[in-house]
Amino acid sequence: MSRPLPWLWIVLAGVLLLAPGLVGRLFVDVLEGITLLVVVVPLVLAGGGVIGWWWLRRNQVTCSACGTPSLGQSQCPACGSPLQSRQGPEGVSLGVDASDVTIDVVAQSVDEGGKP
Ligand SMILES: [Zn+2]
Repeated sequence: MSRPLPWLWIVLAGVLLLAPGLVGRLFVDVLEGITLLVVVVPLVLAGGGVIGWWWLRRNQVTCSACGTPSLGQSQCPACGSPLQSRQGPEGVSLGVDASDVTIDVVAQSVDEGGKP
């Protein structure tokens, strides 16, 4: 071993850990808090990043003419061509906007059905 052991720090840590006083407890509490922070914060950030990325991918519309991705716009910001509407749940472009379609509903009386 070329480096001598840091006995000073080991003794200091031992004294702080074994000390039944307020300083020892405070030291351990602070160390616990820092450890928790170091472990939890990256997890939270990673989760937020994954959710943000998922949301971005879901709301992203790619221009069919030039391939520029954009969010929540009806026209391509790069080339100005109209963007395709949302894709269907199976990833297939429906080609029909649901708000433009009229569904005819024919009302029928239940009593006319002919009870036995
Ligand atoms: Zn474009």
